[in-house]
Amino acid sequence: MTTTHKGACFCGSVQIEVTGEPAAMGYCHCESCRHWSAGPVNAFTLWPPANVKITKGADNVGKFAKTPRSIRQWCKTCGGHLLTEHPEMGLTDVYAAILPKLDFKPGLHVFYEETTLRIPDGKPKQKDVPAELGGSGVLLAE
Ligand SMILES: [Zn+2]
Ligand SMILES: [Zn+2]
Repeated sequence: MTTTHKGACFCGSVQIEVTGEPAAMGYCHCESCRHWSAGPVNAFTLWPPANVKITKGADNVGKFAKTPRSIRQWCKTCGGHLLTEHPEMGLTDVYAAILPKLDFKPGLHVFYEETTLRIPDGKPKQKDVPAELGGSGVLLAE
């Protein structure tokens, strides 16, 4: 049986569904995530794009790509953030806050080099991203 998790934007006009298990979950500390979200970290869940479906309001989704690596998407009615496509990584980040029923189990921190909020939780602190995702794989102290 395949697990399905439903989510929605802040106003509910965009609805989203993810199926299966995320490829990874954790926290991103990068400057771009912080600047765009206006928050100190982004709690991410990464999925193969085929497992992510916008089930309602797809024509109400705005998109912005400051770099080709991240296509950030939000609801045009409420401004609530939904997801970021990472085409080079082949994964889509559906923000953990959008999937309230998903059991969020962060496994790592990425772009800890850029952190403004240290989180000493014992999880690995990647300088950028793991080598298998095209990064340096270098670990930093908490
Ligand atoms: Zn909305
Ligand atoms: Zn980030």
